[in-house]
Amino acid sequence: MKQSHNIESFITESNSGIWRYEELLPNVSIPDQITMGEGNTPLVKSNKIADEIGLSSLYFKMESSNPTGSYKDRIAAMGVSRAIQQGRSACIGTSSGNAGASFAAYSARAGIPYHLLVLEHIVESKLTQVLVHGAEVKRIKNFGESEKVGEKVFNFIEDHATNLNWEMMITAFKYNPVAMEAVKTISFEVYQNLGNRVPDAVFIPVGGGGLFTGIWKGFKEIRQRDIDSKVPNIIAVQSEGCSNIVRAWEQSKVDPLDGDSTSQISGLQVPNPPDGHEVLEALSQQGWGHMIDDSKTWRWQKKLALDEGILCEPASAISLAGVEQALSEGRINKDSDVVCIITGAGYKDSKSLKKIADQRPEVGVYDIDQLQI
Ligand SMILES: *Cc1c(COP(=O)(O)O)cnc(C)c1O
Repeated sequence: MKQSHNIESFITESNSGIWRYEELLPNVSIPDQITMGEGNTPLVKSNKIADEIGLSSLYFKMESSNPTGSYKDRIAAMGVSRAIQQGRSACIGTSSGNAGASFAAYSARAGIPYHLLVLEHIVESKLTQVLVHGAEVKRIKNFGESEKVGEKVFNFIEDHATNLNWEMMITAFKYNPVAMEAVKTISFEVYQNLGNRVPDAVFIPVGGGGLFTGIWKGFKEIRQRDIDSKVPNIIAVQSEGCSNIVRAWEQSKVDPLDGDSTSQISGLQVPNPPDGHEVLEALSQQGWGHMIDDSKTWRWQKKLALDEGILCEPASAISLAGVEQALSEGRINKDSDVVCIITGAGYKDSKSLKKIADQRPEVGVYDIDQLQI
């Protein structure tokens, strides 16, 4: 008989948030563990869309239900706790918005300042969320479009963090591998949500590649601890306008290609993906890539809202567009167990919601005495 230690035996039920998995994460002593109950998100089974596209088991991992509305809260819980443990006086980082909201909220909770460099064209509702939590924000010209500016921003933050002894909060293994370990908890939860089973395929939106790399690491750890389990196929889904990783995969390259971003999907505009090499390494072992036209992503965002009741931001809906493409290419079949990571909540990108709402008939104003339904 093979010895099998499932993930459940490592859970500390009395802990909250990512710290339920503290035995499988970098060490942070209990007084320094900051949490707002992040993680433990539901795995929701698809009804209508699964039927429509011809899949028997399609699931949505609802990272949108985290405290600030995205999976970045897992990283912030770990990152800010480590910053406190190491006596850092402040955090500094970059973000398209969601990491900013997470680190701003968790820094506020920890009572330390957070300096944030954001994209020039950050979505208004994401900027608002960051500001409400008190972060010190600077918008950077051409950041999010120019590959060169992206590199310079990362270097600026790295230099300042080193010189000032601040914690560097870039959500990539390349820059903060310790904080990124928290992403593994997504894989642990999916495995548990499915009854200690690994799905056939996990579809993951990819910007800088940190989320993808963390989920891959999580499943590899499950495999190490539960030798009866397999490793799922792991699928990178990028916006066509910012697809330096997927195009490199198509050409069997080991590093992302060069080129600026024209993508309009907030969260995925990372032309210089810091973890691109790790993603390509994983893809070469157990997965594949898709790139999706932005208009298709918006269509799936609307469909998720109408057919499943799930309100997510476009960067999340792209995973489902990837599922559709994988089916049409025969990479998965109707009996595959498929999980889509719904990375962020609908309210994150209120502009995209407004576009959907504006397609509805105009809402009239009525005198209640004359109203007919
Ligand atoms: C950050 C983010 C992504 C992309 O994650 P990467 O680690 O940059 O690849 C996808 N969706 C949402 C909602 C995000 O906030």
